[in-house]
Amino acid sequence: MEYTEQQKQAFKNEFANRRRNQIVVSGLLFILMIPYVTADKSTGLMLGTYPVAIFTPLLLVVVIGALVFSFTNWRCPACNKYLGRSMNPHFCWKCGIALR
Ligand SMILES: [Zn+2]
Repeated sequence: MEYTEQQKQAFKNEFANRRRNQIVVSGLLFILMIPYVTADKSTGLMLGTYPVAIFTPLLLVVVIGALVFSFTNWRCPACNKYLGRSMNPHFCWKCGIALR
C-alpha cells in the first residue's frame, strides 16, 4: 500500500509518541523494581520498612498492567502489527513503513 508524504510523517509522529510512552512505562517499572530487588531477605522488608509480602501482589498487578499496555501500545501506526521486542525499530517488519 502506498501512503502520501503527509501520512508517512503522521506515522512517524505517532510512532515517536508510542516509543516515548513505552520508555516511560519501562522506566516506571524499573524504578518500582528497585526496592523489591534490594529488599532485605532476612527481615522480608523493603527499604527497611515495608513488608515484601504486601508489595508482591501490587507489583504483580503493575507488571501485568505494563505488559498489557505495552502489547496494545507497541504497534505499527500504519498496519497495527505488534513491533516485537526491539526498542528501536526503524521500519515496520510487516508493512515496511519508515518509523523514524
Ligand atoms: Zn506496519
